[in-house]
Amino acid sequence: MESSPLPAIFLGHGSPMNAIGQNRYTEAWQRLGSRTPLPSAILAVSAHWFVSDTALTIGTRPRTIHDFRGFPEALYQVQYPAPGDPELARRVQRLLAPLHVTLDDTWGLDHGTWSVLCHMYPEANVPVVQLSINASQPAQYHFDIGQALAPLRDENVLILGSGNLVHNLRLYDRERTNAAPYDWAAGFERHARELIIANDVGPLIDYDSLGPDARLSIPTPEHYLPLLYVLGSHSGSDVVSFPIEGIEGRSISMLAVHVGGDTHGAMT
Ligand code: ZN
Repeated sequence: MESSPLPAIFLGHGSPMNAIGQNRYTEAWQRLGSRTPLPSAILAVSAHWFVSDTALTIGTRPRTIHDFRGFPEALYQVQYPAPGDPELARRVQRLLAPLHVTLDDTWGLDHGTWSVLCHMYPEANVPVVQLSINASQPAQYHFDIGQALAPLRDENVLILGSGNLVHNLRLYDRERTNAAPYDWAAGFERHARELIIANDVGPLIDYDSLGPDARLSIPTPEHYLPLLYVLGSHSGSDVVSFPIEGIEGRSISMLAVHVGGDTHGAMT
């Protein structure tokens, strides 16, 4: 029996504290998990594995990495014991050939991955493989990998990008997290949404060309690039929706981008 392809999903993960919090984002992630057909595995691309290599986690029991400092002890106690999936890692390695991809047994699941998956799949019952973001490569490289990964969606694998479309921590307003976003943040998010809906990926790949709003929204690329993997897997006829919206602290976009599958309507 042929089933429809799974969606590819980009999530804005925001603060690591979302892992142990309950708010409209965590509730929406939970709903997204329960409304998406259960994947047989997840391929996660997180902003927090941004290294000088293209690598896949190969371990059968990926460790929960607490890659942050200065948070409450409870956050360091979180474990997300989802199994790995070496078979999927090898499948991805073959899909990306002749690109050299390292099979890595040192990394595990970083908080970009587990802080959202602990809400989407709280039972940690779906195997997870992480794919690193190669920091030495241009944006086009990441989009191209997304394109090469598209067949996974027909193999019941969920492609998950975890970052933030707008991510400027230096200007983050900790005192007023609910304050209205900066004009440049709202403006860039709006522009990016229009381009995503139109599947006009050229300017999204060449984001430096989008002007000062883009430069303030993407001061460093690691939180933006996971989006390009998700957009790369677009079939050309996929419906795109934004099931989660919001800008925190004026400068962190929590926007979720849902490519394909059943859109389920807005969730916030
Ligand atoms: Zn992050």
